[in-house]
Amino acid sequence: MPELPEVETVRRTLLPLVVGKTIERVKVHRSKIIQHPDVATFCERLKGQTIHDIHRRGKFLLFQFDDVVLVSHLRMEGRYIYEKESAPFDQHTHVFFAFTDRTELRYRDVRKFGTMHLFDKGEELRVPPLSKVGREPFDEQFTVSWLSEQLQRTKRTIKATLLDQTIVAGLGNIYVDEVLFRSFIHPERIAATLTTQEIEALHSAIIQTIQEAIEKGGSTVRTYVNTQGKTGTFQTQLYVYGRVNMPCRRCGNPIIKTVVANRGTHYCKYCQI
Ligand code: ZN
Repeated sequence: MPELPEVETVRRTLLPLVVGKTIERVKVHRSKIIQHPDVATFCERLKGQTIHDIHRRGKFLLFQFDDVVLVSHLRMEGRYIYEKESAPFDQHTHVFFAFTDRTELRYRDVRKFGTMHLFDKGEELRVPPLSKVGREPFDEQFTVSWLSEQLQRTKRTIKATLLDQTIVAGLGNIYVDEVLFRSFIHPERIAATLTTQEIEALHSAIIQTIQEAIEKGGSTVRTYVNTQGKTGTFQTQLYVYGRVNMPCRRCGNPIIKTVVANRGTHYCKYCQI
């Protein structure tokens, strides 16, 4: 699943392609992707709307139109493709935004788990799914003391707590494993038991890891590519994720894979005690 750095990369590659484009019509081949409102209203409201900007919140893309906002989540394998209107497409292409200049933004999703919500401008932040999204790693309100307060309140493991989008937005399985390694915290530690020093290390690992991953265009694990078909390169710099039985880059002992919070979890049992 694309996480914050991959979604941010999609946002950055889409931006120069579609900003300023006006929608002539929308076609939906698979209605379950459109979660709100109904498909007919979705298509009708977008007609004649111009894309002014694309924002990101956690793992969501927010397409900013004249007076509506399209909130899109790629889930497992969703991706956007920008094409000439006449270009061929396959059966995995489910939503078509045709622009007045005969180009088209297409949403392709082999697994079909992706979602789209359309809201009046301003409403999108007050209702689910965005109303439940926690703080962004680069938000100035994401501070050590705030993070510490949130962690005190939970009885869950640190892995489960960081995967939960309602506290820190945008981290998924790859980056949670990475930030825990970088801060030398065992994934099964109960979040409320972390020391101040550990929370400080975790806080800076989150910001640094996400920043470095964005600079590398994200991690290409499985099928992720950005809108221009390019792969990210951060996967070559991962410390633990996807490195089971390979030597720890810090101590040389083999990386372990186990299950925590129902997710495959990679860690070094010597570095993360
Ligand atoms: Zn190690």
